[in-house]
Amino acid sequence: MLDDFTFSKLQDRLQKDGINPFNASAIFRAVHQGSIEASALGKSVRKWYESQELCQLEVVREISSSDGYTRKFVLRFCDGKEIETVLMGYEGRHTACISSQVGCAMGCVFCATGKMGLLRNLTAGEIVAQVHFLNRKLAADGRPPIRNIVMMGMGEPLHNFEPVMDALDILTDPRGPCISPARVSISTVGHVAGIRKLAESGKNYSLSVSLHGASDEERGALIPVNKRWPIAELLTTCRDYSVKTGSKVFIAWTLIEGANDSDDHARRLGELLKGMLVHVNLIPLNPTDGFEGRPPSEERVYQFLKIVKQEAGVPVTIRQRRGIDVGAGCGQLAGS
Ligand code: SAH
Ligand code: SF4
Repeated sequence: MLDDFTFSKLQDRLQKDGINPFNASAIFRAVHQGSIEASALGKSVRKWYESQELCQLEVVREISSSDGYTRKFVLRFCDGKEIETVLMGYEGRHTACISSQVGCAMGCVFCATGKMGLLRNLTAGEIVAQVHFLNRKLAADGRPPIRNIVMMGMGEPLHNFEPVMDALDILTDPRGPCISPARVSISTVGHVAGIRKLAESGKNYSLSVSLHGASDEERGALIPVNKRWPIAELLTTCRDYSVKTGSKVFIAWTLIEGANDSDDHARRLGELLKGMLVHVNLIPLNPTDGFEGRPPSEERVYQFLKIVKQEAGVPVTIRQRRGIDVGAGCGQLAGS
């Protein structure tokens, strides 16, 4: 579909279809800035443009959290598959939490998306369409467009590498939505091959790696793909990533009472990360169906933070929990 094409892929396609690639700018703007400049196009180009399909989204449900900050949308594509997209923020600073797959193949035991299995990958156009949809919503409310994107919705973004990279290419294109690459964050379960490709890509996106366990045994019990990409290999890849890109890596640690929240866990996490260019984000577990685990007490979370920070000297913050009442928190997204 037309909205799958990055600018350069659009130029190639025009060339292939016998249309002057010079028209790419007007077409790209028409698709991604919503300014239908069809009148600026010659007759044959306009005919070509009108013959192209765009991704269609239908809103199945919209739920606002009582936190006044989070809105969750269940969106349906033409084939009936549904995903969830979350809008966070107020005033002028909105963040879109975007899905990359319908379901997820990684099977993390604490995650509602993981329980679904992978139904299919999203196309670049379907990823981009989520942002366009939110921007239309914001515009209708007289609000400025999305400025931040987090690839933390449904799916493992690096397991759908090319469409995700194409979508981010489009979203950060100055001729399109023009979101700053520094305001794009990709969260990965620890897909080593994908992290390596991301480092090679030369893109300046922010990277967050979901760790959650300080030994292979503990991590493997939560994240089955730890067997494929064990901790030592993952952290070596993170070190290489920092060397290659000059950027720090964010380490996500979902705190689960009794599983990975003790002083000992905090010390072992600190040991693992000592000397690395990292920043730890602690996320108290959000409840999901089919997982018995619970979040630790607030006191325990602060104690954990203190140890990582003071004993290992690793920077650490607690990620705000948002939208929990409407199932829009991390790991709660599973379609309607
Ligand atoms: N697949 C990617 C991105 C989506 S999940 C990844 O796993 O990183 C985004 C974040 O939410 C990850 O850090 C993930 O570990 C975390 N998460 C998943 N389920 C959760 C839950 N029930 N409570 C808190 N965080 C959760
Ligand atoms: Fe997939 Fe991420 Fe959920 Fe794991 S936490 S199942 S990788 S979406």
